[in-house]
Amino acid sequence: MRLETQYKSFGLDDKVIGYASRILEGLKERFAGYDDLAEYNQLKVIRAMQENKIAEMHLGTSTGYGYDDYGRDALEAVYASVFGAEDALVRPQIMCGTHALQIALAALLRPGDELLSPVGKPYDTLEKVIGIVPSAGSLAEYGISYRQADLKSDGSFDYEAIRQAIRPETKLVTIQRSKGYQTRPSFSVQQIGELIAFVKSIKPDLICMVDNCYGEFTEMQEPTEAGADLCVGSLIKNPGGGLAPVGGYIVGKKDCIEKCAVRLSAPGLGKEVGASIGMLPSFYQGLFLSPVVVAAALKGAVFAAGIYESLGFPVIPAAGEERHDIIQSVVLGSEEAMCAFCRGIQAAAAVDSAVVPEPSDMAGYESKVIMAAGAFVQGSSIELSADGPIREPYAVYFQGGLTWPHVKLGILLSLQKLYEGGFVRL
Ligand SMILES: *Cc1c(COP(=O)(O)O)cnc(C)c1O
Repeated sequence: MRLETQYKSFGLDDKVIGYASRILEGLKERFAGYDDLAEYNQLKVIRAMQENKIAEMHLGTSTGYGYDDYGRDALEAVYASVFGAEDALVRPQIMCGTHALQIALAALLRPGDELLSPVGKPYDTLEKVIGIVPSAGSLAEYGISYRQADLKSDGSFDYEAIRQAIRPETKLVTIQRSKGYQTRPSFSVQQIGELIAFVKSIKPDLICMVDNCYGEFTEMQEPTEAGADLCVGSLIKNPGGGLAPVGGYIVGKKDCIEKCAVRLSAPGLGKEVGASIGMLPSFYQGLFLSPVVVAAALKGAVFAAGIYESLGFPVIPAAGEERHDIIQSVVLGSEEAMCAFCRGIQAAAAVDSAVVPEPSDMAGYESKVIMAAGAFVQGSSIELSADGPIREPYAVYFQGGLTWPHVKLGILLSLQKLYEGGFVRL
């Protein structure tokens, strides 16, 4: 078959192609489910754009202070609609997901307040933001304390520990939807909704924030539709659809968003300033494409899980499990196998395919990290990418892919490299 010749030209062995196509046979129903999800969320985005009367004039630009940037304001209204929220802040001046989270935390907490994570340790880069790892400028330096309630060993919420961790000074609860670099489960919007209802039943004025990175459009609802006061994420992950070259978003209650805007710009300025500097077409079009892009990434995650689970590697989530984010972790057990996997992903890239990934130190991370990313946008992890900290249990976190054929090629090449390295037998 001519398609097979195409694959072989990438150096894929017959055994690798054969093994993968047998796995793929069994996934047709799952894939149909993701096509339905993409359809649902695509219609949601189109409706939001229609309701907010998006017109060609909104795709323009502004410079300088960015006063009267109607396109920027309308985009924020669209985000609010899509997320079922009152208001939004969607800006190229938000540099990444960590920055968006830092803005929200610093905007809503004051000296003497306590931050609570009821879902265990937060994402690596937040350790310095919060001050769990001492760092200049951390919340801890401003007199904001932190407490966490760990998950139970089966990954479920420890409601008793959470109850005890809520104190008079507890002001904000941060819930990370995605597992990040951990081997715990990711949470469904429904689970997050139940957790929020629980903490608010104990202390109704708690602000509930969800770190929504990697979760957008993986379900039919977003956490703001399940009781979250705000949701925070990165535009070079899901909602940027691969087109946004930079940026972050915060959606939620109007008063929370106003505080975040004031924190991002300055007191007295808020949402009024902030030029869109030519970013709006890619922000709009990326959001428009995102549901379909996320579905491709979900298919890739399930495909990778299917292959590596059947080869005997622990995978989280399991191949048959429901998804609440686009991340697939595969526990490979050694640094060498992690390198082989990542080199396969890199070899599938359209950009930088000749690069050979090596473990190295990275700003914000405590251990060495290996990363495979041949991306159009630097570090974009809605694009096909794999990464992981070089530490026990030697798990790679695989995510993204703007189109299904690209994700498929990446997974086939990862398997090829593991096969060549003698880490798997086919
Ligand atoms: C990626 C990510 C972040 C941080 O985002 P950056 O854009 O890398 O700064 C925070 N939380 C989670 C769960 C993430 O996946």
